[in-house]
Amino acid sequence: MNDELAPQSPAAALVLFSGGQDSTTCLAWALSRYERVETVGFDYGQRHRVELTRRAGLRAGLARLSPSWAERLGEDRTISIEAIGAISETALTRDAEIAFAADGLPNTFVPGRNLLFLTFAAALAYRRGIADLVGGMCETDYSGYPDCRDQTIRAMAQALSLGMDRGFTVHTPLMWIDKAETWRLAESLGGAALVRLIVEETHTCYLGERGRRFDWGYGCGECPACKLRAAGWEKYRAGQTRAIA
Ligand code: ZN
Repeated sequence: MNDELAPQSPAAALVLFSGGQDSTTCLAWALSRYERVETVGFDYGQRHRVELTRRAGLRAGLARLSPSWAERLGEDRTISIEAIGAISETALTRDAEIAFAADGLPNTFVPGRNLLFLTFAAALAYRRGIADLVGGMCETDYSGYPDCRDQTIRAMAQALSLGMDRGFTVHTPLMWIDKAETWRLAESLGGAALVRLIVEETHTCYLGERGRRFDWGYGCGECPACKLRAAGWEKYRAGQTRAIA
């Protein structure tokens, strides 16, 4: 492949796409704004690896929702970063009870995960001539993960731009909104059909459960990720009912 010297295109974006609710909403956001949208996923030995298997179906589902989205949706890659499992002992990468540590952070925190993801994504974007990265990081109702904070992401974008001598922008459309607003954003981008696709096809549960179907989708219903998704869905639905009344 000889695309090393591809000039950066303002019309292209690379979305960090895990197969969850947030990154799927980000992908729809990018498809409604950029002419070419590529996706990248990361396999780091996560327990909820099942989310990676949702990606192809979600991409196909998004393409079915809109002819222009189908046209814009570009290549997809999965990058294996198994070293994360080797250097971190967390409840996301090993079979352990999810709990909160003394510093207030849940043991699902994988130190530096988003920093690594953004570095790999930028290296790929460099080669693909893409300046705009899009990620679902969110500071609003996150679990306190310091690598989701706006300040971290901005500093990271600067470090990547300096370190690769290319201007990178990291877009985080969910940074200042909560989970209910994320559902509303999906509705505004792709209507009820996109909301349905996200409910049915995305994966959020930390334990990788897909056995039970709730109104908000599949999961265990008990882990922090499921609880956050369920609470957001309730709030979103309550807002809809008020809007209709
Ligand atoms: Zn769960």
